Amino acid sequence: MNILVCVKQVPDTTEIRIDPVKKVLIREGVPSVVNPFDGYALEAAARIKDKNPDTRITVLCMGPMQAQDALRECLSIAADKAYLVSGRGFGGSDTLATSHILSQAIKKLEEKEGRFDAIFCGKQAIDGDTAQVGPEIAEHLHLTQVTYGLEAFADGAFLKIKKETEAGYEIIQAKMPCLVTFTKPSWHLRYPTIQRKLAADKAEITILTEEDFPDIDKSRIGLAGSPTRVKKTFVPSKQKEGVKIEEDSADKTARKLMELLEKKGISL
Ligand SMILES: Cc1cc2nc3c(=O)[nH]c(=O)nc-3n(C[C@H](O)[C@H](O)[C@H](O)COP(=O)(O)OP(=O)(O)OC[C@H]3O[C@@H](n4cnc5c(N)ncnc54)[C@H](O)[C@@H]3O)c2cc1C
Repeated sequence: MNILVCVKQVPDTTEIRIDPVKKVLIREGVPSVVNPFDGYALEAAARIKDKNPDTRITVLCMGPMQAQDALRECLSIAADKAYLVSGRGFGGSDTLATSHILSQAIKKLEEKEGRFDAIFCGKQAIDGDTAQVGPEIAEHLHLTQVTYGLEAFADGAFLKIKKETEAGYEIIQAKMPCLVTFTKPSWHLRYPTIQRKLAADKAEITILTEEDFPDIDKSRIGLAGSPTRVKKTFVPSKQKEGVKIEEDSADKTARKLMELLEKKGISL
């Protein structure tokens, strides 16, 4: 099997900084991590490889040059090959522009790596949180898509996907090629091995810049290609301590709360 995993490098959530002018996240020089949901997608691919050793896992990321760290982490865990799409023109892309660029990159990678039987994404990125890119890539590439995957099993020309539902889970069978987005599974992720880490530190990561996409429609990438207009972004100020109501019975506590709300002119 030939699996591609889309991986996003995200700011370590304690370090969120926003560019006050462009209203986009400052990513350069900010401690960053592999988006946790993409870690689950990579582990799902690695579990297929455990059972089908001839499986090849390629990881793809769009981001600033520092995103190579995220790709090296994936190489040290389970990936065989890594690609980074990076270039000023791609910066500030919203989900539509991001998914368009990634889809063009996937077509380019398939010229080299062969057709991907499955494309795995995280359910969502913990910074943009839109959960849009995975399904958008599937639409651009006219692929069957299954979201909220917990685990996937190769079964001939099909992929069997354990999908999370409100009631628990269901097993979906999808003909390959297809795209699956992954949410948090019940099992633990594997750790990088020393051997893989040493190899990952030396591994060549192929960088794809704007020059590698001579035919890409410039009006569909970066800020120019992003219909999303961020009106305002801000780091909310820390809330003052609220009022704690603790009477000796639930009834008294509810009455106290009602009194406070009425004092504030809030009627229920
Ligand atoms: C605070 C904040 C709010 C934002 N709000 C919006 C918004 O409302 N609408 C909007 O269009 N954009 C928004 N953006 C921009 C958005 O973050 C980027 O477009 C981003 O590249 C993709 O969207 P996402 O982070 O929501 O990813 P998601 O759609 O949540 O990501 C889903 C999956 O797609 C893959 N993926 C996503 N980005 C990449 C990448 N760069 N490289 C490789 N794989 C990737 C990963 O597998 C990931 O798990 C916001 C950004 C920030 C920081």
